[in-house]
Amino acid sequence: MSVDARVLFLLICTQMATAVDVPKLLLNNRREIPAIALGTFLGFDQNGVVKSIDKQLCNVVLNAIDLGYRHFDTASVYNTEEEIGEATQKKIAEGAVTRDELFLTTKLWNTHHERYQVLQALKESLKKLGTNYVDLYLMHWPMGLNDDYSYSDVDFMETWRGMEDAVRLGLAKTIGLSNFNKEQVKRVISEADMKPAVLQIEINPQIIQTDLVSYAQAEGLVVMGYSPFGSLVKRFGMDLPGPKMDDPVLVEIAQKYGKTTPQVVLRWMVDKKIIPIPKTINIKRLKENIEVFDFKLQENEIQQINGFDRRVRFTLPSFWQNHPYYPFEKIENPIPDPFAKKS
Ligand code: NDP
Repeated sequence: MSVDARVLFLLICTQMATAVDVPKLLLNNRREIPAIALGTFLGFDQNGVVKSIDKQLCNVVLNAIDLGYRHFDTASVYNTEEEIGEATQKKIAEGAVTRDELFLTTKLWNTHHERYQVLQALKESLKKLGTNYVDLYLMHWPMGLNDDYSYSDVDFMETWRGMEDAVRLGLAKTIGLSNFNKEQVKRVISEADMKPAVLQIEINPQIIQTDLVSYAQAEGLVVMGYSPFGSLVKRFGMDLPGPKMDDPVLVEIAQKYGKTTPQVVLRWMVDKKIIPIPKTINIKRLKENIEVFDFKLQENEIQQINGFDRRVRFTLPSFWQNHPYYPFEKIENPIPDPFAKKS
């Protein structure tokens, strides 16, 4: 073997060796779901939802697959389905992964809550993702909206019937809910033909949602936690009250395991059987965030982190708070709707 070939071989081996083998959780339909998902919502700016520029997100997903990520979390409203599709198709074509090894989660947007609209919206997402099924389809919010973003009174159980149609047609392998409160989850469970398998909600040290998580897990739903870093990082100019990167409690735990504080927070969720959905477009942090399966927190450390709970939400769409199906607490001065801007 020439020197060049040997160097190439070593490089390939190193890359293979660094890919993390992510464990999986069992869903109530006997399918499996990887225990960490890459978040792909790029945020808001003055023009509404931020779009990926120069295939940045496609590149992140290509790197993520090399690092061992198999689960990608998107939504029709994120504008990232196409680049996820492009990257995953490329990796499948190269033989790096098979479609079966990937787990694609996307979400139904609020403007498509009529039963017949669910399949239309899902087919649009499938086209963008370049696949003929998603592994998980979530109802993004319980509230329906009309095209002009005025409130629609379509019942989320009507929407759920459309989600069930998607499973019957094989377009979604699994269905679930996002941003539903406990009473709403209960209603879906009691009235559905197909029980939801997943609940995706905000979870991070300052909003741990113990009651809702325990209820959902006791009912056999797998919980996914979005915005896992919470107050550790500033996002879109928002600085939440709560622990920061250099919090002494987190730093002490991180030092004990030779990890960083973001890794400790992700592991805290993994240890509670919650799937964290960290988002990053930085390749170094992409690697950091998946290296959380080679250590385990002790119960007292989990409790210490639980102790940060202040029930402070990062995602609080108060502009929808007068909708009859709004799931959260109301506030005094609701903010303008950033999604409506793009329509
Ligand atoms: P995250 O907690 O993932 O925080 C993302 C921020 O943390 C970014 O600014 C990122 O910056 C930074 N970051 C990532 N990793 C690290 C690290 N190791 N060290 C320091 N900083 C880091 O929150 P998000 O609100 O972005 O949520 C994550 C995902 O959850 C979304 O992308 C989406 O998929 C999902 N979500 C779902 C919602 C729903 O309604 N169902 C609502 C909100 C989110 P950088 O990119 O520069 O690394």
